[in-house]
Amino acid sequence: MSLLPLLFFSCGRIGSMCLNTVFMALLILDFYIAHDCQLITDGTLDAIMGTNRHEAASMLGTVPWSAYIAAVLALGLVAVLSWRLGRWNRRAVMIAMVPLVLTGVYNSWKLYANWPFHTAKWTDIVYRRYIASDLRDHAPGVVGDVTYLAIISTKWVKDRRFVVRAHTVTDRQVIGRHAGRVRNIVFIMGESSLASRYGVYGYDNQNTTPNLQEMKDRKQICVLAKVHTNAPMTRYSVPMSFSFQTPEIRETLFNEKNIIEMARDNGYKTFWIASQDGKGPYARPFGYLSEYSDYTTRQDYNNETNGVNWKDESIMPVLADKMHDPAPYKMYVVHIMGSHRKYDDKVTPRDVQALPNADTYDQSIHHTDSIVQQIMSIATSELGDYTMIYTSDHGEIVNVGHGYQYGGYDQYIIPMIIHDANGVGTYCNMAEQMRNHDGYYTSIMNKYLLLDMLGYDVDPAAMDAARSRDHVLHADSKVYNYNNLPTEKNLW
Ligand SMILES: [Zn+2]
Repeated sequence: MSLLPLLFFSCGRIGSMCLNTVFMALLILDFYIAHDCQLITDGTLDAIMGTNRHEAASMLGTVPWSAYIAAVLALGLVAVLSWRLGRWNRRAVMIAMVPLVLTGVYNSWKLYANWPFHTAKWTDIVYRRYIASDLRDHAPGVVGDVTYLAIISTKWVKDRRFVVRAHTVTDRQVIGRHAGRVRNIVFIMGESSLASRYGVYGYDNQNTTPNLQEMKDRKQICVLAKVHTNAPMTRYSVPMSFSFQTPEIRETLFNEKNIIEMARDNGYKTFWIASQDGKGPYARPFGYLSEYSDYTTRQDYNNETNGVNWKDESIMPVLADKMHDPAPYKMYVVHIMGSHRKYDDKVTPRDVQALPNADTYDQSIHHTDSIVQQIMSIATSELGDYTMIYTSDHGEIVNVGHGYQYGGYDQYIIPMIIHDANGVGTYCNMAEQMRNHDGYYTSIMNKYLLLDMLGYDVDPAAMDAARSRDHVLHADSKVYNYNNLPTEKNLW
């Protein structure tokens, strides 16, 4: 490691300037991410890599200008210094290169010698991830992070676990099957929505949820209090609502029938309509699930003619069209962008007009309130009777984000709103009964509500077991008790 500077300053002026500036740029980027995320985990890097172009532009817009100016000045300084100090020195290059090459050869040999060829190919991302993670542990900081990204992002490698193929195994918790109990199911999965900013959850600083409030007053919906997600990141959370995956047991996403497959098995026509994406390594866990549906459209999939993009309002025409479908039993998953950063590009002039003195986060909640209302209004006119769940994949630390190791509870607190086909009753009460022993309703129980609607019976003992603990899959991919999240550490 300490030989790197020697090498970098001995490659002649141009060579030194390029090497040093690129290294410095990576260093600044790594420092900024570490600062912003408190702790760089493998998941942080996966998330960065999986960010699509629009999200990246949106997120870069949240970095203050002063940080950009400081970065440009630092890079300029390094470039000038390298130009002045950089000399071509063959001996120094040799001295620096020999140990580097030797270490490289030694590590490659070690990797080759220990590679489990009988079970794993290099193309198997599980092993590749394991090795990348291992290398990162041994070379922390910018070198480890860049190595990790280089190994994981190799384009020709496909994660075979996320290839869509029919499963044959039904989870053992399911003990019976009847005709579907709800003919039309609409599940709206929100994004980065913090319940404590909802008017219907008692927030009175701004009138963020006028539509939901009106429906609540008319008893068309119920608003569940005290709800939290089981993971503060989309990729971990969404699969826990639509499969048997839990924080402790994650392989069930790949080994057993998911909720979409169970719906189809029981005669439902299934639709997944999403302004979210689903192709990159970050989005793949929910992209994978979406593709089990009879009809799938997303901002990055099957949207050539229906106009679906990252804006939530773009899904309305196709939703109206698909809700017109004559199939007797139907399930719709609607996966929206909600309040993902950057907030102001989720907000329309109508939201600003309605809440001129609110911050952009509150305005984005106001926008989602209107999106939910629009979906419900289409459902009412096209489907007639339907049961709807509206919730969010996770909460949000307002103006900061989510998926933070020491981010605390705001990234977990979510809304849970139910409209019952036959007026407020059945599923609101059932959800109340599904609270954990500590009083919280959590996202992993969503699947039990859906299974009941779809006509399945679940072993009551299994559900009791699920209620007896309150575990979450946290930012570092480790399981914690919800009442004992990793506490704030002052890293900087
Ligand atoms: Zn999310």
